[in-house]
Amino acid sequence: MEHPTHDSQVVVVGAGVAGCQAAYEAAKNDAKVVLLEEHAQVGVPSHCSGVVSLNGLSLLGVELNSTFTQRMIQGAVFNPPKGEPVEVRTKSPVAVIVNRMRFDQYLAKRAVAAGVSLHTKTRVSKFEHHPKGGVGLQVQDGPRYKGEIVIDASGAGSRLPEQAGLRTPDWTQLLPGLQYELAETKKQGDMVELFFGNHRAPGFFAWSIPTGDHSARVGLACRKGNVKKLLDDLVKDYWPKSAVEATKSGSVLVSGPVDKCWSENFLVVGDAAGQVKQTTGGGIVIGGYSGILAGKAAASAAKSPQDQRWKILMQYDQDWRDKFASDLKRMGIAHRVFAGLSDETLNRLFEAVRDYLPEIEEYADMDFQGKIISHMLRKRKFAALLPRVAFDSVKSIFS
Ligand SMILES: Cc1cc2nc3c(=O)[nH]c(=O)nc-3n(C[C@H](O)[C@H](O)[C@H](O)COP(=O)(O)OP(=O)(O)OC[C@H]3O[C@@H](n4cnc5c(N)ncnc54)[C@H](O)[C@@H]3O)c2cc1C
Repeated sequence: MEHPTHDSQVVVVGAGVAGCQAAYEAAKNDAKVVLLEEHAQVGVPSHCSGVVSLNGLSLLGVELNSTFTQRMIQGAVFNPPKGEPVEVRTKSPVAVIVNRMRFDQYLAKRAVAAGVSLHTKTRVSKFEHHPKGGVGLQVQDGPRYKGEIVIDASGAGSRLPEQAGLRTPDWTQLLPGLQYELAETKKQGDMVELFFGNHRAPGFFAWSIPTGDHSARVGLACRKGNVKKLLDDLVKDYWPKSAVEATKSGSVLVSGPVDKCWSENFLVVGDAAGQVKQTTGGGIVIGGYSGILAGKAAASAAKSPQDQRWKILMQYDQDWRDKFASDLKRMGIAHRVFAGLSDETLNRLFEAVRDYLPEIEEYADMDFQGKIISHMLRKRKFAALLPRVAFDSVKSIFS
C-alpha cells in the first residue's frame, strides 16, 4: 500500500517536554506544525521523578495546575554516607513534584489547542534532506513527512542527529536508574531526601520524593553495582512497611551537551542534545526552555529563504548556550569530581556544607547551580578539602 506524504513547515519528533514546548512555540509563531510521537499515548511510559523548580516552571511559561501537581517542596535533606543528615530548608516552596505523564499530556494538549497536529503511534526511523529542498522523515510502516525544518526532541539515545551530520551526546554516559512508587509509607513532609555513599548509589545518589501524605517516589541511579539490589536495600532500611505499587526504570543522562545543535534545516533539543544538569540528571527545565527557543527559531527559519536559514538556526544554538552553558560546564566538572569521592571525603564535604547553610539557603538555585558551586569553592572549609578531593579523583581513575 502506498503511504501518503504529510506536508508541513515544522516537524517535531518526540512529544516529551522539549518537543511539546517546541511545537507549541512554533505554532504560536504561525507555523504549520506536526508533532510525531512513537507511543500511543503522550507521557506513557514515564521514567521521570518529576521534580521541577517553581522558577523553572515559570521559565517554561507554565502555571501550577491541579491536573499535574502532586506536592509542593520546601527544600532537601542530604543524607551523607555516615552521620547526621543536612537539611536545606527554604522560606517558601521552591519546587513542585509533577506527575510527569500528566505534565507531558498537559503540554501536548496546549500545543494541539495552538494548532499543532499531533500524530501518535508514529515512530520516526530516518531523517533525510529532500532533493527538491526542505527535509523529510521516514516513519516505520507509515506515511512520510515533509517539512522545511525538523526539530529532533526524541530524547536520550536519538540517532537522528547523526543522520543530520551532528554528533550525539556520549550515550555511554547514561546511568542505569530505577524507581518505585511506594504506598503506605510513614508520614511524608515537604522535603525531598537524597542519599549518598558507595553503599547506597556509587557515583551518583538515591532519592525519595513525597507524592502524597503516605506515598513517595523512591529511586536511584549509579555508576557501579546492582541498581535493583541497591534500591531494595534503601527501601528496606527506610520504609520497611511500605508497598511497592509500581516500578519504573530509565537511564539518567550525565554526558553534558553536544557541541553543535543545528545543521541544515535541522535542530536538536532536550535529552537528544544532552541538555541535562549532570549533577542531578534533571532536564525538564533546560530541555523545555530550549524547546521554546528551538520552536521560535524553526518557525522563523521555515518562512525564510534557504540561504538565510542557517543564521536563524545557529542563533538558537547561541541563545540556549547563553542561558545555560556556563552553569552546565561547572555542573559537569562538579559531577565528574563528585562521582569519584570516597565515603570519608563525602562525609567531610557534608560537614563543611553544614557550616554554610544560611548562604546555601539564600543563594542556591536548583537550575543554575554553577554560581553556588563556584561560591562554595572559595570557602575556607571547602578549599581545605581540595587535596583530598583531588586524591580521590585520581584514585578513582585507576580503580
Ligand atoms: C529516573 C529518572 C528521573 C528523572 N527525574 C527528573 C526530575 O525529577 N526532574 C527533571 O528535571 N528531570 C528528570 N529526569 C530527566 C528528564 O526526564 C529528561 O531530561 C526529560 O524527560 C527530557 O525531555 P525530552 O523531551 O528531551 O525527552 P523525553 O521526555 O524522553 O521525550 C522524548 C519523546 O520522544 C518520543 N520518541 C523517542 N523516539 C522517537 C521516535 N523515533 N519517533 C517518535 N517519537 C519518539 C518518546 O516516546 C518520548 O515521548 C529524570 C530522568 C530519569 C531517567
